Amino acid sequence: MSANEKIPFLDLVTPHKQLQQELTAVFQQVITTGGFVGGPLVENFEKDFATFCDAKFCVGVNSGTDAVRFALTAAGVEPGDIVVTVPHTFIATTEAISQAGAHPHFVDIDDRTYTMSPKRLQEYLDRECEIVGGKTIHKKTKKHVSAIVPVHIYGQCADMDPLMEIADKYKLIIVEDACQAHGAEYFSKKQNKWLKAGSIGAANAFSFYPGKNLGACGEGGAITTNDPEMVRKMKMLREHGQVKKYYHDIEGYNGRLDSLQAGLLHVKLRHLAEWNKQRQAAAAEYQKLFASNTAVKLPFVPEWSRPVWHLFVVRVADRDGLQKHLAEAKIDTGIHYPIPLHLQNAYKSLGYKNGDFPVTEKLALEILSLPMYPQLQKAQQASVAQGVEAFVTVASV
Ligand SMILES: *Cc1c(COP(=O)(O)O)cnc(C)c1O
Repeated sequence: MSANEKIPFLDLVTPHKQLQQELTAVFQQVITTGGFVGGPLVENFEKDFATFCDAKFCVGVNSGTDAVRFALTAAGVEPGDIVVTVPHTFIATTEAISQAGAHPHFVDIDDRTYTMSPKRLQEYLDRECEIVGGKTIHKKTKKHVSAIVPVHIYGQCADMDPLMEIADKYKLIIVEDACQAHGAEYFSKKQNKWLKAGSIGAANAFSFYPGKNLGACGEGGAITTNDPEMVRKMKMLREHGQVKKYYHDIEGYNGRLDSLQAGLLHVKLRHLAEWNKQRQAAAAEYQKLFASNTAVKLPFVPEWSRPVWHLFVVRVADRDGLQKHLAEAKIDTGIHYPIPLHLQNAYKSLGYKNGDFPVTEKLALEILSLPMYPQLQKAQQASVAQGVEAFVTVASV
């Protein structure tokens, strides 16, 4: 490739071009049968996605946001409860908590893995909660703390063993936000085996937003679980609370995954393992290219983690400077995410302030997401590394 060819942040065209025939065949099938909602396309995709995640069941839904919301409700979170998550995530995590009628509370992330810190969670429980009648109660508000939502950010699982131990002790439901982690694995020392993201919590959420490791050609999401009773509830929630057509036990939502998206996702699912491998190879290449550059802090991968690299995120002192420099070199980058959730205008009413979650706050100023996708070429990565190198060298003289 030529020296001044643009390097995009992600490539949503190439994989679809490669699969164009199969994807078009799905479209043909849908428009010629009129099977737009539900039916075998959805059921077959759900079955195979559950298998991919080592889960018994999968329920296809509208979006990752709906997936988190329905997972919380089906798993037993009730309106008025407190649900604990991290401020270093996309706002959908907390939107879903609020939409389920609950209140988000935050605990900080670990400064190496960027996922929920078990230590900070334990501190929160010690400081703000007490166990009353077998339930964890928030002392100040008297609300029931019923669940935690660890977020497998950037495609790396949170440290689930200690989180499961705490959840067990305090009777907290675990809902994994696996929206960035299709196929990520966690080695549980306790169970002495690798666990797939989406197979650990009571009910777990995935997004098929186009840029995710498995993306729809539009919107989509899914929940995985091993509990048939939760499947029943989630199917009611996604379809107006009905148990059969026009018999509504509760008020639900219009939250279905449509047949066209399910069919397209099913085609793409067959390539997901291979795409994740290509992401892993690209991540290894970045790690090699930056190995000797002490000004660039690389992602940390603990021995218990096999990430799927939804994003490849580095830390540098002058992040905004580096981003601008790379943009001038036609290298696209992203920031995931620039403003921690507890400092967003939308959450002013929660009463958090700057300084409450120092690890997240510092991270937000230093992170830069480099181009990352299965089709990324080594030559492109070399150009990215050169671009970074040039800036860091100039900046340090
Ligand atoms: C993408 C994402 C979601 C929401 O998914 P949508 O399909 O866009 O609703 C939730 N949580 C995280 C961490 C995400 O990255």
